[in-house]
Amino acid sequence: MFRRTHFLLALATTLIAANVSSATAQTPRIDPRVATILDNVSQDSLHAYLAKLVSFQTRNAMSVSDRPDWGVKAAREYIMHTMQSFSPKLQVSLDCYDVDQQGRIMQPTQLCNVVAVLPGKSARRIYISGHYDTVARQANGRFDWSKWDNPAPGADDDGSGTVLTMESARVMAQSGLDFDATLVFMAVVAEEEGLIGASLHAAKAAKEGWRIDAVLNNDMVGNVEGNDGITDSRTVRVFSEAPTDSPSRQIARYIKRWAAVYVPSTVIRLIAREDRFGRGGDHTAFNREGFPGVRFTESLENYSRQHIKDDTLGGVDFHYLTRNTRIDDAVAATLALAPPAPDVMSERSHQPMLGRGESGYDAALRWQASPGAAGYRVVWREAWTPDWQYEVNVGNVTEHTLPNVSIDDYVFGVAAVDADGHESVVAAYERQPRARTNVRQEGGGR
Ligand SMILES: [Zn+2]
Repeated sequence: MFRRTHFLLALATTLIAANVSSATAQTPRIDPRVATILDNVSQDSLHAYLAKLVSFQTRNAMSVSDRPDWGVKAAREYIMHTMQSFSPKLQVSLDCYDVDQQGRIMQPTQLCNVVAVLPGKSARRIYISGHYDTVARQANGRFDWSKWDNPAPGADDDGSGTVLTMESARVMAQSGLDFDATLVFMAVVAEEEGLIGASLHAAKAAKEGWRIDAVLNNDMVGNVEGNDGITDSRTVRVFSEAPTDSPSRQIARYIKRWAAVYVPSTVIRLIAREDRFGRGGDHTAFNREGFPGVRFTESLENYSRQHIKDDTLGGVDFHYLTRNTRIDDAVAATLALAPPAPDVMSERSHQPMLGRGESGYDAALRWQASPGAAGYRVVWREAWTPDWQYEVNVGNVTEHTLPNVSIDDYVFGVAAVDADGHESVVAAYERQPRARTNVRQEGGGR
C-alpha cells in the first residue's frame, strides 16, 4: 500500500511539473509565420521550373555542352540563375569537381552541384536537396553509360525533388524570417552514376568540419500512380538509416510529428531502412560521412516510367508535389527556428548522462543547456516500440527524474524548445555498443 501511494504521489508530482512548465514548452502548435511560408509555395512555380528542366531534353551528368537549350550544363545554369533571382539573401554558387573516368563516369567530366545558402544566426546547417541529373536506358532497354544524348527528361526522377528544392529556397528566402540555422538548398549532380555529387559535397563538409543537423533529400516526390493501376496521393514515404535511435531516425520521427501539424492531409509513412530494397539515394552519401539525413519518396513508384524517355511532365501530380514541398518546408523552417538539440553525452565518459536515481528504479536524465532554449521536452517509450509514447515538458532545466521508469525497459530522449514552441529533434540516450571481450587463455591462445 505504501509503495502504491508513493508511486501515485510521484506521478502526481510529475504531472504538476508538466502543467507548471507548459507555459514555456507545449505540444506542437502552428507558428503563423511558418504557415505563411507554406501558403506561399506555388504549384504554378513548381510547374514552370519543371517544364523548363524537362525542355533541356537530358540532364545526364556527362551531357556537358555549350548549347544554351540542351544538356546538364544548360540545366544547372538555369537552376543557378533562377535561385539567384529569388532574393539577394541567397548565396547561390556552383559546387564543382573535376572527376576522372571511373565506374559509370565514362570520360573526365566537370560535375557541379548547385548550392544556395540562406545564412542563419548560427553556422549549423539544414539541407533540402534533390538531384537534377537524369539518365535513360537505350532503345533496347539497357543502360549504356557511354551514351548520354538520348532523351532523359527525368520529370519525376528527379526533376520533382529539384523543383521542390528550388521552390523551398524561394519561400524561405522571401519569408523575411531570421532563422537560427543556416538553410542550404542543393540541386545535386550525378546521383545516377553512384551518388557522386552528394558524396563529393559530403566529404568536403566533413573535411571542413561543417555541422549538418539534417539532410532532407527528395528523390521522386511527384508521382501518385503505380504501374499496377493503384494510386496513392495521400502518402509520402520517409526512409532513414539504422539503428533505431540514430539521429537520422530522430529526424524521421520529427517529420511525422510536425507534418501532422502543418500538412495533416498527408500521411507520413516512416520506413525503418536506409532506402528502398537494394537501391540508393543522396542522403546515404551524407550518412556515410556521419551526417543525419533521410529520403522522401512518393508512396508508389511507377517503374514503367523510370529511367526512360517517358518520365515526362504528365507523370507528375503537381498537387501532390506541392504538398510534399510544404512538408519539407514545415520541417526545415521549424528546425531552423528551433534551438539545436541538447547534448546528452558526457564529455568525460562519452556515454549518455542517464542514471537510475537515488531509488535505483528511476530515470535520472541530464543534458547540456541548448542556446536559445526556453524549455525542454523529455520523451520516452517502451524499448520494443518504434515511436515516442510519453512526454513531459520540464521547463528551463538541465536535468529531470522520471520516478519509477526503468532505464532498462524504456528508451529516453530530450528536445530543446524555444519560447514560440519550435522544437529541436530529440537527442536520444543511447549507449555505444560494447567492445568485444578478448580473453587471454593459458598458452597464449585467444
Ligand atoms: Zn533519382
